[in-house]
Amino acid sequence: MRARLAHETDLAGFRAEARALLANQVPPDQVFWETENAQNSDLFADPRAAADSRPQSVAKAATAIVPASFLRLCEVVVLHADPQRFSLLYRLLWRLVHEPGLRHDPIDADMLRAQHMGQAVRRDMHKMKAFVRFRPVRAEADAVNPSGEPVHVAWFEPAHHIVEAVAPWFARRFTQMRWAILTPERCVEYGPVAPDALPTRPPESQLRFGPGASRDDAPPADAGEALWLTYYQNIFNPARLKLKAMQKEMPRKYWRNLPEAQLIGPLAAQAHQKTHTMIDQPATEPARRIPQSIPRPVHPALALLTLQQDGIRSLEELKAATMRCRECPIGEHATQSVIGAGPPKARVMFVGEQPGDSEDLQGQAFVGPAGRLFNQALEQLGLPRDQTFVTNAVKHFKFELRGKRRIHKTPTQREAAACLHWLEDEIALIQPEAIVALGATAARSLMGRAVPVTAERGKWLIRADGRKVLITLHPSALLRMPPEDKEQAYAAFLDDLSQARELFNV
Ligand code: URA
Repeated sequence: MRARLAHETDLAGFRAEARALLANQVPPDQVFWETENAQNSDLFADPRAAADSRPQSVAKAATAIVPASFLRLCEVVVLHADPQRFSLLYRLLWRLVHEPGLRHDPIDADMLRAQHMGQAVRRDMHKMKAFVRFRPVRAEADAVNPSGEPVHVAWFEPAHHIVEAVAPWFARRFTQMRWAILTPERCVEYGPVAPDALPTRPPESQLRFGPGASRDDAPPADAGEALWLTYYQNIFNPARLKLKAMQKEMPRKYWRNLPEAQLIGPLAAQAHQKTHTMIDQPATEPARRIPQSIPRPVHPALALLTLQQDGIRSLEELKAATMRCRECPIGEHATQSVIGAGPPKARVMFVGEQPGDSEDLQGQAFVGPAGRLFNQALEQLGLPRDQTFVTNAVKHFKFELRGKRRIHKTPTQREAAACLHWLEDEIALIQPEAIVALGATAARSLMGRAVPVTAERGKWLIRADGRKVLITLHPSALLRMPPEDKEQAYAAFLDDLSQARELFNV
């Protein structure tokens, strides 16, 4: 007897057929299972529709009670590439019904085989998540993609029928991207879909599946990939090379689609020599530790000392050094460090708290919502921002993930203290006549003590190096205020800032 399934992973069809066969007492050795070729099937048809069209009376008649664990195993085993998988599953189902002891037999050959197949599928799914490498492809702007965002395309060769099962994971992981994964059997695309009627809101992104593709349809290597290879080469630690463990985690069959695989041979060949060179090198200075307490106020002579201590001679060097900085845990999670910007001899320096989400992505201070309010205030006072140096007390973005959003978290005193020497480097490089502290974190870092901002705002304080520091609120504090208080608070902020007017050439 033939049991026909709609496609390679037709679990609903298998369940319906198996129930009907059981109800009719058809033994497993009399059933020949076959699937439509996935590439010829109706790719967008709902597989449940095929199952539902089978005679309900027969489906209902089958009331085989099987353990839930077996049903979960079926969900994975149907994704295996072995053409015998449906025969095996039906044989197991038949035996579970007719041999009640089977579920308690841990070494039954059929059951073990199904479990191994399940493991192989899960491993393949894991490898697909780990080894897909997207490359951006330019896309024309159109109704669903008005800004012409690139599509990220990857080529992957799964060992089993796992594309539909893994695609939702990629959709959750790369929500904001338009992407496609091409495989020889199935392709999946994710991105906005044009609405049928007149659009009332932006089109929603959806997964769409289609027939397989060929390797030549995937884009060639690009500049981003060259960067990734340089990075891989640089983080490769020859002393830690364990080829066997590496091959176990990254089996050779995946290598041809992994750009970094071409480096493994040469890097492994040089590993022995490089390890010896590393051992022969003189020891490097241990990384600086977070100071245990807030440093004392900076003495004028100390600014110079700090400069010499860090050896920073330009903003470029400062950027490179802060990029590497791991003196507190924030740097590990941020995209990049954000240092200040402005003319090399600006007379006034503005110091905020730390970069926000937009600053972290763009690498520039005060370019997000708080930055827009800050710009508006300067503009209203007729003070050109490009005559000032604008920076932050902390050079990396500290955040907490809430769903997909990165929510700002105030840096702790220890984190701000660990960053202080970078701020002092900026002061030593720019030598501003006066500094404006935007908020409590900046005020504490600049003055070396807690400053009650509401009490001291609008006043000029004197730092230990003799520089004047004007205290005011942070623009984000204004953004967070209740609407009824905003206008007055903004006017007071303008009033504070106007005291720095003399430092602008206006
Ligand atoms: N808040 C800050 O303190 N600095 C920025 O650069 C942005 C927001």
